[in-house]
Amino acid sequence: MLRAILRSLRTGVVTIDYPQRPARVPERFRGAPAARENARFDALPGPSCCPSGAIVGGPPGEEPPRQTIDLGRCLFCGRCAEEAAGALELGRQVELAAHTRTRLVVTLEPAAGGRVTAPPPPPDTEVAERIRRVLGRSLHLRHLDSGSCNACDWELTALLNPVYDVRRLGIDFVASPRHADGVVVTGPVTRNLETAVHRTWEAVPAPRVVIAVGACAVSGGIAGTSYASAGGVGEVLPVDVFIPGCPPRPEAILFGLLLAVGRIAEHSR
Ligand code: SF4
Repeated sequence: MLRAILRSLRTGVVTIDYPQRPARVPERFRGAPAARENARFDALPGPSCCPSGAIVGGPPGEEPPRQTIDLGRCLFCGRCAEEAAGALELGRQVELAAHTRTRLVVTLEPAAGGRVTAPPPPPDTEVAERIRRVLGRSLHLRHLDSGSCNACDWELTALLNPVYDVRRLGIDFVASPRHADGVVVTGPVTRNLETAVHRTWEAVPAPRVVIAVGACAVSGGIAGTSYASAGGVGEVLPVDVFIPGCPPRPEAILFGLLLAVGRIAEHSR
């Protein structure tokens, strides 16, 4: 016991200081693809290189040819960057969550750098206070797995460990939707779970938020839309925040949750 205490004293504080400080990602982190500033248009990869159908070409005959990447579909696999002969690179930004699906569709424009510009994060010091002001208590969320591969679920679970410690921001997860202020959904919503997803959402008292976590929940991802998959949470519920990634890092989820906090304030007006 004494040894354990001494070890933890030696280790010091392990909790990250995001969002007070920018998120630090590992060297090998793969974020959203973006065109390099001096890239040639003809060097950009075609839609056929993308396994999830995230790259879409512009109208035929358009000069210069235009292509878009739907970050809500992107798996951040890096295949397009490998095939682009240096025209594309994978970014290192985690703050990609957005309120609308259209905000996640970026145009590859080498002249403009094709950069993804994220909305500014909410003021971190006021987060817990804002939640309490709107809800009278901290923000409680119900996690809903609608048929995911469990990758996003693991990242959500990581939010509760001492490194990410989401509770320091006044956010926690609960077992019952009746005790929740919103649902955090992972997975593309399999047809078998469609009714369960809808009923869970109905059980959450208003005002309530819906947060789609990961490419599958945002757009159907690699599962797409089929007889077995609804093609994303937005097909079943009114989604307030979309968090892209496959899976998104815990900091990316934290950013999305903070965006959702602002959304609750909007709802309650
Ligand atoms: S990173 Fe992978 S999934 Fe994303 S656009 Fe490129 S090829 Fe498609």
